[in-house]
Amino acid sequence: MGILYVVATPIGNLEDVTLRALRILKEVDLIAAEDTRKTRKLLSHYGIHTSLTSYYGRERKADYLIDTLNKGKNVALVSEAGTPGISDPGYPLIKRAIEKGIIVQSIPGPCAAISALVVSGLPTDGFIFTGFLPRKKGKLTKRLRELFNFEKTVIFYESPNRIMATLEVVKENFGEVNVVIARELTKKFEEVIRGSIDQVLTLLKGRKIKGEVIILLHK
Ligand code: SAM
Repeated sequence: MGILYVVATPIGNLEDVTLRALRILKEVDLIAAEDTRKTRKLLSHYGIHTSLTSYYGRERKADYLIDTLNKGKNVALVSEAGTPGISDPGYPLIKRAIEKGIIVQSIPGPCAAISALVVSGLPTDGFIFTGFLPRKKGKLTKRLRELFNFEKTVIFYESPNRIMATLEVVKENFGEVNVVIARELTKKFEEVIRGSIDQVLTLLKGRKIKGEVIILLHK
């Protein structure tokens, strides 16, 4: 049986990739990528010519990849950015491979949530990462209430055009909360905005936020 390597790739800056990740990407028989266009850019930057197939977590594709692994081929799973399986379609394939007794190895590297946490200034000794939160106000409030019960730093991914709406819900329902917005980490327009909910809302008022964003909260 082949090995399934779960390979972390850069979240922006192409230099943020480990030597081991590059070696594995070069040596495997096949790379299963969430976004082949993005992965091709990384591969061509490093002169890697391994075959690439797209992977969206679809059943049929997972079957094909499991079949490939069963035939003794090694496969690297990469997501659009960061660590596969974290808020992306990688999980079903990883789970299926484990169920089939295939060896799954982690090739660690960047993860947007952890990169944001360590520069946030919010407590790092306990945190809850929760991917994307519900969009509807009621469900969002309920989920945030549950998350704040843990009294830990809450980290979630958010679309840039929803930041203000989400922060308004935080302000309306939870009073004093420390907020950090981590935007475009490792990229040209990297920015980290820190402050109380009121300060951050004031700073963002009238601004059009673009790019990839993570919100961190601590109550
Ligand atoms: N698997 C990825 C990881 O390990 O971080 C996360 C994938 S998730 C589909 C994509 C979300 O991650 C974006 O919507 C954004 O919230 C966050 N993200 C990814 N890259 C980022 C960056 N450079 N700066 C800030 N947030 C980023």
